[in-house]
Amino acid sequence: MAKCDKCSKKAKLFLAYGPHNFCSEHFNSFFEQRFRKTIRRYKMLKKNDTVVIGVSGGKDSAVTLHLLNKFYSRPQTIKALIIDEGIPNYRDKAIKIAVKEVKEKGIEFKIMSYKEELGMQMTDVMKKTGRKKVLGSTCAFCGPFRRKLLNDGAIEMQATKLATGHNLDDEIQSIAMNFFDNDLKRMSRLGAVTKGGKKLVPRIKPLCLAPEREIIAYTELNEIKYFKEHCCPFSWQAKRNEFRSMLNKMETKFPGTHYSILSTFENLKPLIKNRFKEEKFCKQCGSPSSKELCSVCEKLLKLA
Ligand code: SF4
Ligand SMILES: [Zn+2]
Ligand SMILES: [Zn+2]
Repeated sequence: MAKCDKCSKKAKLFLAYGPHNFCSEHFNSFFEQRFRKTIRRYKMLKKNDTVVIGVSGGKDSAVTLHLLNKFYSRPQTIKALIIDEGIPNYRDKAIKIAVKEVKEKGIEFKIMSYKEELGMQMTDVMKKTGRKKVLGSTCAFCGPFRRKLLNDGAIEMQATKLATGHNLDDEIQSIAMNFFDNDLKRMSRLGAVTKGGKKLVPRIKPLCLAPEREIIAYTELNEIKYFKEHCCPFSWQAKRNEFRSMLNKMETKFPGTHYSILSTFENLKPLIKNRFKEEKFCKQCGSPSSKELCSVCEKLLKLA
């Protein structure tokens, strides 16, 4: 029977990339220490930062909220921003859980909806795009809409940092997808920290070194509540699912592959970032954009 690396108890979690064997208690401290090290390594937070966390009700943002509140709610200020995409039987349920959590923790929060801010919610987008992807996939609309509302909301809440719950798996899937698509511009926007600018709040991903399965284990050990039905009924993520399965197979066969992809990207990022430096603003809404129209205005135009 495998024993914990740190004590004589029976190991409950085996992390092949270490390799590490941990009992529940030592897994918890390993997970929390890595979270704090990530924040230090990427210089994510400064004293007196106001951190707005994008909270969805899902596991990743629930853990981000839990840990930032546990370790950084002083001298930093922690607030929560919840985005309502307008997806019945999915986000409405998740939002209830998220609101309960932030209220219990006494964290200031704000809810913003696509309907109020953009004039249409995802049910309207769905009606226009259908399942045929004539205008693009549902997620191709939803992603930029969410990013815009998170940034606008963070500005309203006077954030100096915007934290999201992206984990290691999310990050390397995005890196690989952009690599396969030859989309270096989009790839240059990935990474643990994204610099801010005029009208752009700097973004941080404190869970970017945490594998998804460890996040699930952490929620269970710490009884963190989140919305467990993880499949969005409007999801059109067939491509991402292919990449997820390919990368997970590689990780199983060659433990450490996920971290290795992230390191390769981090070595490349300074080179590709220099190529896509310019900062412009959308002529329609004034949001930061690399083109005349930002992707949200472009997409709203498509749906009009
Ligand atoms: S899966 Fe797609 S449609 Fe559903 S919430 Fe995520 S981005 Fe939006
Ligand atoms: Zn132990
Ligand atoms: Zn715009």
